[in-house]
Amino acid sequence: MAVILVSACLIGCPCRYDGEACECAVLNEIAKSNTLVPICPEQLGGLPTPRLPSERWGDKILMKDGTDVTLQYRRGAETALKIALTCGADFAVLKAKSPSCGKGSIYDGSFSGTLTAGNGVAAEKLMHNGISVFSENELPEIISLCSH
Ligand code: SF4
Repeated sequence: MAVILVSACLIGCPCRYDGEACECAVLNEIAKSNTLVPICPEQLGGLPTPRLPSERWGDKILMKDGTDVTLQYRRGAETALKIALTCGADFAVLKAKSPSCGKGSIYDGSFSGTLTAGNGVAAEKLMHNGISVFSENELPEIISLCSH
């Protein structure tokens, strides 16, 4: 059995910026024999739901209207790490492309749907502290880790 930190929106929590979820059915199967610990770094950082979408611009995170929400994103990332360490998470499964949760590829800050290489703030924080992060698009790797 693995302890897995997961983006809350992936297990059906309506915490996305638009008040919706983006459920990943396979995680419901994985939950039957593993422990999932849901987190939403943007909510943990103090942002409301629904909220304006944000994108990463270098070290800053800006909402679509230009509001700087870097502090909230950093606070959410720190809290996500604290939860991961407290619950002894073996690894994390986080939502792809998000400015908080994305790994390897995120939106480029132009709000045009264009992707660029990079990580979300929370995903980066977890990886820098030794916690492996996978997106929901890496199911073979996730299932392999769960079966050990
Ligand atoms: Fe989902 Fe992460 Fe965005 Fe929260 S911050 S809605 S968990 S992708």
